[in-house]
Amino acid sequence: MYYFDNNSTTKVDIDVLNEMLPFFSEYYGNASSIHKLGQISKKKMEESREKIANILNCNPNEIYFTSSGSESNNTIIKGIMKASGKKHLITSKIEHSSILNTCKSLENEGYKVTYLNVDEFGTIDLKELKKSIKDDTALVSIMFANNEIGTIEPIKQIASICEQKNVLFHTDAVQAIGSIDIDLSDLNVDSMTISSHKIYGPKGASILYVKNKVKFNALINGGYQEQNKRAGTENIAAIVGMGKALELNYQNRNEKNKYIKELRDYFELKLKETVKNIKINGNLQNRLSGTSNVTIKGFDAATLVIALDMRDICISSGSACMSSSILPSHVLKAIGLDDSDIKSSIRVSFGKYNTKEEIDYLIMSIKEIVGK
Ligand SMILES: *Cc1c(COP(=O)(O)O)cnc(C)c1O
Repeated sequence: MYYFDNNSTTKVDIDVLNEMLPFFSEYYGNASSIHKLGQISKKKMEESREKIANILNCNPNEIYFTSSGSESNNTIIKGIMKASGKKHLITSKIEHSSILNTCKSLENEGYKVTYLNVDEFGTIDLKELKKSIKDDTALVSIMFANNEIGTIEPIKQIASICEQKNVLFHTDAVQAIGSIDIDLSDLNVDSMTISSHKIYGPKGASILYVKNKVKFNALINGGYQEQNKRAGTENIAAIVGMGKALELNYQNRNEKNKYIKELRDYFELKLKETVKNIKINGNLQNRLSGTSNVTIKGFDAATLVIALDMRDICISSGSACMSSSILPSHVLKAIGLDDSDIKSSIRVSFGKYNTKEEIDYLIMSIKEIVGK
């Protein structure tokens, strides 16, 4: 397989897998049990939490383990709004569906949501943000970096505006954590989501960071796990794997990022040489190193994705397939692409396992398909 869909998910690193294996059938205790087997699980989980807190530079008790980035986003947005007593929140038009649909569901319950516009590069307008904050605003939620076009948002400036106006600030850092150094003692966000499977860790595991002072209601009620904020027997294998994945994420980080960016730039250069009428979407100055979103004007992206799949190449189109209908990307719409260009857009996302030779095969294949 030629895998260029690393923003959708990544392959589990073999070192992560090895770290996880003993927790399936050897150390399978429930971390809430008082016997030895339970205590081994508990200890491993807390070691993982401490490791993660050290890497991110926060307190271990500010780290909550959940089952997915989607769950973390749901938990914190609904949890903060319900605990706040206020009725208004602010987000952007280009958030991941786990933020946007959480906001939609809150709107159905009577909450008010402001969806900030973005410019043609996908960056939010700080003035519009300032103007949107009202007395009844409890929370601002803006993604750190976008999963479709890779644009990086001005998180520090947003955080300082929120601090001045005394509203909480959540950031979805699921895409950012792979390539941006995040130091929570310096970033000044109140909460943050990371997902394991986007950084070569297992699926079904996520870190929700929440500053100690922030009040939020639990989304899942039951046992007393995770400081009573997230019930359910902890997935020790996934938690241990996620800790390892985060650790590996920071090893040789600069070289890895440089390598991935070189691959991405090589792809874009070769594509421009090969196919006419190419437009690269997003903020070319301030973009995730592995993300390339390209419009091939006049060529149907879904056709290209399927034709590439027949050659064992995995990429994404700019549209999400929802059962039988195809929804045009809300992100590409928000940066001003018309419907025809949205239908002609692909997302190619690179990772640490890709090689230049694979890209040559990708380019050759695109040339053959689009050439026809
Ligand atoms: C993948 C992704 C999520 C969802 O994470 P899951 O663990 O797959 O639920 C949220 N936000 C962004 C930006 C993502 O790319």
